[in-house]
Amino acid sequence: LTIGIPKESFPGERRVAITPQNVQLLLKKGFSRLLIERGAGAEAQFTDEAYEQAGAKTVDRRSVFSESDILLKVRALSADGPDSEVDAIREGATVLSFLYPVQNKPLVERIAQRKATTFAMDMVPRISRAQVFDALSSMANIAGYKAVLEASNHFGRFLTGQVTAAGKIPPCKVLVIGAGVAGLSAIATARRMGAIVRGFDTRSAAREQVQSLGAEFIEVEIKEEGGAAGGYAKEMSKEFIEAEMKLFYEQCREVDIVITTALIPGRPAPKLITKAMLGAMKPGSVVVDLAAEAGGNCEATVPGQLAKYQNVTIIGYTDLPSRLPTQSSTLYSNNITKLLLSLVPESKKEKYFDVDLKDEVTRGSIVTYNGQILPTAPRPAPP
Ligand code: NAD
Repeated sequence: LTIGIPKESFPGERRVAITPQNVQLLLKKGFSRLLIERGAGAEAQFTDEAYEQAGAKTVDRRSVFSESDILLKVRALSADGPDSEVDAIREGATVLSFLYPVQNKPLVERIAQRKATTFAMDMVPRISRAQVFDALSSMANIAGYKAVLEASNHFGRFLTGQVTAAGKIPPCKVLVIGAGVAGLSAIATARRMGAIVRGFDTRSAAREQVQSLGAEFIEVEIKEEGGAAGGYAKEMSKEFIEAEMKLFYEQCREVDIVITTALIPGRPAPKLITKAMLGAMKPGSVVVDLAAEAGGNCEATVPGQLAKYQNVTIIGYTDLPSRLPTQSSTLYSNNITKLLLSLVPESKKEKYFDVDLKDEVTRGSIVTYNGQILPTAPRPAPP
C-alpha cells in the first residue's frame, strides 16, 4: 500500500502530518511506499532530504494525491475551487485527518461520493487504550503551553517575582478558566515560569489536578457539578454562570493575565469575560482566549486576531499548535502513525486495508467506509 503525505493547504498551516522518524517506522512495519510532497515539512523544520533518508520518495503534489491508497493529513481535505483535495484523491482512498464531521456535513458527503474511507482524529474515543492516538489532547497541551508564552510576549513584566538590586518585583498573577487538557497545560507552564496561578473549572474532579500543579483552585458558593457523562463538561445553570462571572469580575481586578479555555462539547463556548471585566483589569493586562474558535469566552475576542479593549490585549489566535510547528507535528505524527498501525493487522499492510468495525477505536473514529457515511458511534466514558 502507498501512503501519501501532501503539504497542508489551509492558509497559515505550518504543521505536517508525518515526521521522517515515523516514515521510517511505517516502512519498517510493512507499508511498501511512502510519498511526500516536496516541501511538506519545511515549515516544521523537516527537510526533503530527511524524508528521503528515512525512505520516503519526495514527489509533486499531484502524484501524492493520484498514487496514494492512504493519505495522512492534519487538516481535513479541502473541497472547493480548482485545487479541491477531495476531487484529487483516488476513488476509494483512505484518509486520516482532523475532520470534525458533525460541523462539516457537506464535506463528509463530498468525501463519501469519492467512495473514500475516512477517519477523524478528533473522533478517537478518549479511552485508556486510545491515549496514544489522542491528537486533541496533544494539540490542547501545546495550545495551553503556547498561550502562556503568547501572553508573556504581550505582557510588559516578568512572570516570576524577583528581588534584585534595582528593587523587588512581584510575581505576575494568572487566572486560568477551564482546567481540561489545555487549561492544565497553561497552569503548569505559568507555574514553571514563576507566576502565581489560580484555576477554575465547573468539574469538581479538576480541583485536585489544579492543586497538584501548585495552583490555587478558586470556587463559587453554589454547589453544582459540571462533570457530565464520561467526565465531559455540561452546560451550567444560569445561577452558576452568574456566580462564576461575579468571581471572575473580582479576579479580573487582581490578576494580570487571564487564560480562558472553557468549552462544552457540541455547544458554543460560554461567554464568561465581559467588557466590564476587561475595563476593571489593570492597564497592560492580557487575556488569551483558547475558546476563540468556538465563539470565544471573552466578549472582546476577535477569532484569529490580536485585539485591544481599552488597555487590555486580547489574544484570539485559533492556530496556537501551528505556531509551534515542530512540536505539534512531532506529537501529531506519533498519534496518527500509531492509529494507522493499529487499524491494519501486521501481516496485511502490504496487501490491503481492511478495517474491523467491531474495534472500539476504529468504530469511534471512522466517518465514512467505502463511501458509506456511518452514524456517529456512542461516546464511551473516559477512565
Ligand atoms: P475541553 O477542552 O472540552 O473543555 C475545557 C474545560 O472547560 C473543561 O475542563 C470543562 O469542564 C471546562 N468548562 C466548561 N464550561 C465551563 C465554565 N462555564 N466555566 C469554567 N470551566 C468550564 O476539555 P478537555 O481538555 O477535552 O477535557 C475534558 C474532559 O475529558 C476531562 O475530564 C479530561 O480529563 C477528559 N479527558 C480524557 C482523556 C482520556 O481519557 N484519554 C483525554 C483527554 C481528556
